[in-house]
Amino acid sequence: MTRPPVQPDRKASASDSGDTGGARSRTGQSRSAPAGSNRHVDSIVRDRISSPERSVTAIDSPTVKNHRALTGDRNLGARLSWVSTPVCGPYDVIIAPRFVGLCGTDIQIFRGALRPLANILGHEGVGVVAEVGEFVEEWSPGDPVVFNPVNPSDPDEILGYSFDGLFQEKFLIRNVRTMNWLIRSVPGDMLSPVGALIEPIATAIYSQDLVNRSSNGHVAVVVGDGPVALINSIVLRLNGFNTVLMVHGRSPRYRWAVDGGYFDGEDVILGQGNVAERIIKRLGDELVDVVIVCTPGEVAEQALKDALIYLKPDGIINLVSAATPSVVSLEGRDLDTTAIRHRNCCGYPSSGYFERIETPDGKSVRVTSQRGTSASHLNASIELLGGRSSDFDALVTDVVDLADAPALISSAVAWSFGRPKSGEAEGGRPMKAVIELNKGEF
Ligand SMILES: [Zn+2]
Repeated sequence: MTRPPVQPDRKASASDSGDTGGARSRTGQSRSAPAGSNRHVDSIVRDRISSPERSVTAIDSPTVKNHRALTGDRNLGARLSWVSTPVCGPYDVIIAPRFVGLCGTDIQIFRGALRPLANILGHEGVGVVAEVGEFVEEWSPGDPVVFNPVNPSDPDEILGYSFDGLFQEKFLIRNVRTMNWLIRSVPGDMLSPVGALIEPIATAIYSQDLVNRSSNGHVAVVVGDGPVALINSIVLRLNGFNTVLMVHGRSPRYRWAVDGGYFDGEDVILGQGNVAERIIKRLGDELVDVVIVCTPGEVAEQALKDALIYLKPDGIINLVSAATPSVVSLEGRDLDTTAIRHRNCCGYPSSGYFERIETPDGKSVRVTSQRGTSASHLNASIELLGGRSSDFDALVTDVVDLADAPALISSAVAWSFGRPKSGEAEGGRPMKAVIELNKGEF
């Protein structure tokens, strides 16, 4: 085992090097510490709490293995901590995550705008099967996998949100047969930074799927200037949308999309003031068939209100990002976006669910939203990435080691507040950042 770069103290390092694997208990129960040792542990706990550099989770006994994880930090952001590595039971598998994307949702959580149950985030990733229990037949050590974060039978069971996620070196799947929705095989060449895009691309394909079921339009607007907006714009164009505009936020981040050739300069519209007027003018008085909203949740309501003006009758709005708060107030009615989001989960129902609403000027449009992806969306994403990875490669602007992730996250949080750290140029803002784990190990 290579020596990890952070060593909480000599005690932890002693257990690390002394662990041969033979001390693990098959039942998953760690041996209890001898009586009388509590006082010592207490003093270590006090020590750790009083020292911000150290992690409370690093406490261990010589029989417990540890691995590194990014855990939530009270002062917003993340920190590198030691956590106990679970034991792989007879029906379990342990995955070693390799490349895990930092998603807009993660950044919203790190900056305190969302409060999930999980303390370890990370839901967009690829990894390698590291260990399998003796009764597991479906998986073997070394198998490359991609994670599918949402349980199709329970849309509230979400990797890296309702339970701990992939920003850690070891990830246990207990009773893998009952959790078979969580991982899928991928070709070995997807164990690369771009593999972290499989899930976000699959969600854009899901989005397109919903649109294709009920529209034959060709004019679309994506609201947002981050990776999800860009991925959606690529997928829309591949599906015959010959006019795609982008509505961007306050920061000059949209320049990245223009400089990278994803959008013509005249097709990016400032998302402030009279957005609808600018869009309609740009389209020569034409209206829009489809709007994909990929903004931070706080601005989803305004994006929706704007879209009601520039959409065609019977047009579609897909709220890819969850609005916060979830209920948005429109003229004459409230709309519970979470309820709509729950109606389309992981590809079901295949016809798609749309909520029809009337605009103040008497136009009828449809609002939809989605959660998760289906197996066929993931397969289509892998196929798309296999054939056109150059379209997507450039979106991954930063690949950092787990140890460097806290700094990257604190910078991403600062950017999301619109307050870049001093000395950081706007061009330095990551588009898609991917965290690399277990380098050289798996
Ligand atoms: Zn995500």
